[in-house]
Amino acid sequence: MPGKQLSSPCMDCRDADSVFMIRSRRLCRNCYIRFVDYKVFRRMEKYRLRKDIPKTGPCRLLLPLSCGLGSAALLHMIHTQIEDFRSKPYGPAGFDLHVLLIDLSCISSRRLPRDDIVEVLQRRFPLASFTQLPLHSIFEFVPDLQEVLPKYAGQGYADDYLLSSKERLDAFRASISSATSAADVDSILLNRLVVAFAKRIDCLGVLWGDSDDRLAARTLASVSKGRGSSLTWQVSDGMSPFGLEFNFPLRDLFTVELQNYANSFPELADIIVPDTPLSDNVLTKNLSIDQLMLRYVSSQGTKYPGVMSNVTRTANKLEAPRMLTDRRRCALCDSFIHDLGGPTMDDKKSSSLPEFCYACDRSRPGLS
Ligand SMILES: [Zn+2]
Ligand SMILES: [Zn+2]
Repeated sequence: MPGKQLSSPCMDCRDADSVFMIRSRRLCRNCYIRFVDYKVFRRMEKYRLRKDIPKTGPCRLLLPLSCGLGSAALLHMIHTQIEDFRSKPYGPAGFDLHVLLIDLSCISSRRLPRDDIVEVLQRRFPLASFTQLPLHSIFEFVPDLQEVLPKYAGQGYADDYLLSSKERLDAFRASISSATSAADVDSILLNRLVVAFAKRIDCLGVLWGDSDDRLAARTLASVSKGRGSSLTWQVSDGMSPFGLEFNFPLRDLFTVELQNYANSFPELADIIVPDTPLSDNVLTKNLSIDQLMLRYVSSQGTKYPGVMSNVTRTANKLEAPRMLTDRRRCALCDSFIHDLGGPTMDDKKSSSLPEFCYACDRSRPGLS
């Protein structure tokens, strides 16, 4: 059969015109999707084949979904994998997927794409199950925080038990004036809600939808915020201090590659809420360190993608710090406290403050 007349043949199959460029290769839609899917497929091997995990019984994983590009694309990829292994008569035992949809409208301009989003998701991804929670349900899942937040915030905030959970969270957040501290606290509360929910439904691990460049931005931001010791679980695959495995299956993919992937699936179009780009007119001093790093990585990452993946790869090799820790935990972020030569245990015991790790202590209002 004579070959097709193609103006720019795909470099993999040579059977269709190329539509995307990825890592200097021109690929057709199908080969592009296969390339991207395979990156995530490899990252999920451990759970699909249940390596070092009992081969029978439940193996449940939690995917926190913000309806941003990363988590929505990841849901699509993982669901395709489940379809695939369940369709095979002698396929691997695999895993169950539960999705936690978190409404972030109380902490950001990010809204959920539609009111009936859970029903829509459930119809489109029938092999996963879904729960939706607002961030302020943190008070129900981690009741201890009700005592901790006023002590963390200090004099600028008086808790009022008569208010609703949402109003209490709003009042607490309003007491934090620094953009960096507010972003820091938001991500801590989000993490604690995800962990508490995952434990409540007996998950083995959490699948985070951060792409390579986002992980690079988080690595740089964490170091400058004094959270370097938490990089081992904030950007690395493996056991977190919370007794759950954290995994970042999109770590080999860049945001632009995910965007091309998502554009190839019309069923993702009305689920993804695009990020509002940071305006260049916003004064740098009004941005949090996280936003600054994201802006930096977005602008530099397109020019030097190799540098960004190097940052992420290096951070993924980090092991838990061997600094002294007697397994004391920070009252706010719940990670282990490493002894940095600050106030001693006795000093802390003599004050009425709960114990905070170095980074949380540093970000407290009035001190930052
Ligand atoms: Zn092709
Ligand atoms: Zn902490």
